[in-house]
Amino acid sequence: MTKHPRTAAVIGAGFGGLALAIRLQSAGIQTTVFEKRDKAGGRAYVYTDDGFTFDAGPTVITDPDCLEQLWALSGRRLADYVTLLPVTPFYQLCWEHGYRFDYANDQAEIDRQIAEKSPDDVEGYRRFLSYSEDLYREGYEKLGTVPFLNFWSMIKVAPQLMRLESYRSVYAKVSQFIKDDQLRQAFSFHSLLVGGNPFRTSSIYGLIHALERKGGIWFAKGGTGALIAGMVSLFEDLGGKVHLNAEIDQIEAGDDRVTGLVLKDGSRHAFDQIASNADVVHTYKHMLRDTRRGQSNGRALEKKSFSMSLFVVYFGLKTSHPELKHHMVLFGARYRELITEIFGANGLAEDFSLYLHAPSVTDDSLAPPGSSAYYVLSPVPHLGTADIDWNVEGPKYRDRILKYLNDHYISGLLDDLVTVRHFTPFDFRDELNAHLGSAFSVEPILTQSAWFRPHNRDDRISNLYIVGAGTHPGAGVPGVVGSAKATAGLMMGDAQA
Ligand SMILES: Cc1cc2nc3c(=O)[nH]c(=O)nc-3n(C[C@H](O)[C@H](O)[C@H](O)COP(=O)(O)OP(=O)(O)OC[C@H]3O[C@@H](n4cnc5c(N)ncnc54)[C@H](O)[C@@H]3O)c2cc1C
Repeated sequence: MTKHPRTAAVIGAGFGGLALAIRLQSAGIQTTVFEKRDKAGGRAYVYTDDGFTFDAGPTVITDPDCLEQLWALSGRRLADYVTLLPVTPFYQLCWEHGYRFDYANDQAEIDRQIAEKSPDDVEGYRRFLSYSEDLYREGYEKLGTVPFLNFWSMIKVAPQLMRLESYRSVYAKVSQFIKDDQLRQAFSFHSLLVGGNPFRTSSIYGLIHALERKGGIWFAKGGTGALIAGMVSLFEDLGGKVHLNAEIDQIEAGDDRVTGLVLKDGSRHAFDQIASNADVVHTYKHMLRDTRRGQSNGRALEKKSFSMSLFVVYFGLKTSHPELKHHMVLFGARYRELITEIFGANGLAEDFSLYLHAPSVTDDSLAPPGSSAYYVLSPVPHLGTADIDWNVEGPKYRDRILKYLNDHYISGLLDDLVTVRHFTPFDFRDELNAHLGSAFSVEPILTQSAWFRPHNRDDRISNLYIVGAGTHPGAGVPGVVGSAKATAGLMMGDAQA
């Protein structure tokens, strides 16, 4: 074993890869990031079209403290690089027949709206909030940033998981507290934000509610892309290097050590430690294809269940719509049935439930004066579930979604459209190397969580590490930034061994 490893490579510049690189560089390990695409960010890529700025992915920024910590490691302040703006209400939840719920961080306002809809649920909501806070303490504060490398670490937390009934689904737990149908949807949809089916994912993911209530919901001024740019600047100010348009073809490895990277252009680079922020199946099956470990683990990972994909439409309007809220969840007529189809049916449903992002409400720098920028996303089956030719269906599906928005939520949309683009499950597969085009990697169910999830350090190759949505704790910005803390702890410990 190398006595004093001093160099590390991170493959991929997603939130997890960048957070890890910042932690390693702050600890004095000379770190290089290799990113396949022409910009950093991964799922948090940015498009600039006709004067509009579109964040490609994450827009709901929770737990700003987990980001603040990255700057604090070197005595710096996040605020000197990026401005975070509070978003209120957190979300507006809308149903087709007209009912709306403004989910704000204001207890009195939440109580008032629940009392108006279903008086019996006011007390139930309070009990749900207290349960969610309990989940947050056990699942996020205590376990969110520690690696689970052996089965014993899982056994140790089993009593807490049993006490919190983590074997039940998010929806089943919410339903124990709340009786009204729409309010059950309002407090259970959150797991979809990290790729979890609320009817199947562990109730542990009910912690997201407490996470939002505690830390608030924020938006980076200039868009999430500005936050990514801030992380890249911080990393470079610390002396780290980012190579863009630098796709890794292969990780060079023996049976128990990795030694370096081979880029697609054929160049070779040696490193003491290597972490992959790329998709886990791609990492083992493709980048480690010539090793026994890569072949066997690649096959094992392919058997796991993967989160759904997403279909995203980015569009700019020549008008502004101050009547909209920044984050809007637009529920269709069906909830359980639609989600069941998204996670298991071979086809595309006629109806949809959508998330509408309207950032111009908070930040007018993202569109030309008087105009406004949006994206709308629809959860859709991944490529292993539904055999859909997205090159054919994509434009049709885009038009259906835009017409639905025009008819129900943004009148005049079709007349005012200035620019539009879309991103399909094929793009998740081809642009991001995502297995089955999954938007959130390995599905967050109990049997694929903590020790059951791909580990932050490989079990056989002692200087190969994983960071990002496919490892513990999982997807979402706080999740992958937490995974970076767990992985960095291992890498820094191993570097000193
Ligand atoms: C549309 C959408 C909306 C979302 N909204 C939210 C939200 O509002 N809030 C939230 O918290 N989360 C949200 N999420 C989830 C969150 O964005 C992701 O879980 C998180 O950003 C994933 O980060 P990651 O570190 O795993 O890396 P990724 O973002 O997956 O980045 C991995 C990087 O690896 C690169 N790569 C792949 N293969 C190679 C290779 N061979 N060589 C070099 N580089 C390679 C890729 O190009 C990519 O840049 C959303 C996700 C999507 C898709």
